[in-house]
Amino acid sequence: MDRRSVLKKTLTAGAAAGAATIAAPAISQGKMEWRMVTTWPKNFPGLGVGAENLAKRITTMSGGRLTVKVYSAGEMVPPLQALDAVINGTAEMSHGAAYYWQNKNPGLSFFTGVPYGMTSREFTAWVRFLGGQEIWDEIYDQFGVQGFLSGDTGTQAGGWFRKELKGLEDIKGLRFRTPGLGGQVWQKLGASVTNLAAGEIFQALQTGTLDAAEFVGPYNDLALGFYQIAKNYYFPSFIEPGLATEAVVNKSKYKALPADLQEIVRTACQAEYDNVSSDMFANDPRALKTLVEKHGVKTHQFPDSILEAGAKASAEVIGAVRDGDNALAKKTAESFISALALLRTRSESTDSPYIRAREKYFKI
Ligand code: CA
Repeated sequence: MDRRSVLKKTLTAGAAAGAATIAAPAISQGKMEWRMVTTWPKNFPGLGVGAENLAKRITTMSGGRLTVKVYSAGEMVPPLQALDAVINGTAEMSHGAAYYWQNKNPGLSFFTGVPYGMTSREFTAWVRFLGGQEIWDEIYDQFGVQGFLSGDTGTQAGGWFRKELKGLEDIKGLRFRTPGLGGQVWQKLGASVTNLAAGEIFQALQTGTLDAAEFVGPYNDLALGFYQIAKNYYFPSFIEPGLATEAVVNKSKYKALPADLQEIVRTACQAEYDNVSSDMFANDPRALKTLVEKHGVKTHQFPDSILEAGAKASAEVIGAVRDGDNALAKKTAESFISALALLRTRSESTDSPYIRAREKYFKI
């Protein structure tokens, strides 16, 4: 045995003994690697890149003490099992959307996007300053995990449809892909709703398993190629007026990190949330230009009859959670509704009138 391997052996033994006797966190002995499973396909623009960037940010900010390795959808676990992988410890971290897990607690839907709910600005105000994060923590505590916002799409597109929608009658029986509470709204409007992960939607459209689908907006949707099947693209989404992604960490693994690494994980998520928001905002209009000019996509606004019925259905869906028997989900809905009542006074007295005025009068 040469000197180096003896030294290595001695250090390893010393480290193990140290950990056993003084219970020092494993990190103090050297570097560690976390596995991040995601719900996104490999090299997926916007949201998937956000997961990659988050991993790089944590690795760089920690000086390599905490390296995060990303596994795209299906590499380690199927996309819609990402949270379970973190709960059972197969992975230390996941990147996805909280509403994919609404079957674990209906309150989780509120931490992604809510039909006729908050815009992204309003949403972060609720999560960060009006009690949202605390309730989210309470829900995820039950599963031994902790959630952080990690990205945001802004107001989404309403979806891809083979045929133009003239009114509610065109929705009846339509096989439509959309998750979360928004899925329940479309169901109430008469659609037959399923959720599929990003990488599965195109094929379902192509084979006719789906008639229509919504995913995110032009930037992400262009990458997924939906324009090849359906040419009618509707705006805006009234079920996902703002939509956040999450990074989830295994809570015991997170708590075992020294305070500076915990703060690095938290801050890296916050920075990446901001970065993804700007990425989507910058690239959505560029992608839309490509879709329209190069791929012959036709853009539409939903007819008023659909918008109005959608609003009514949204109030019913949110109301059902508030009036339901799951105490934490009820608490989430009540907090969301009360924060929205406050926040919309600003949006509707300041932001909307400004946008309307700019649209009407300002040319340069
Ligand atoms: Ca969506």
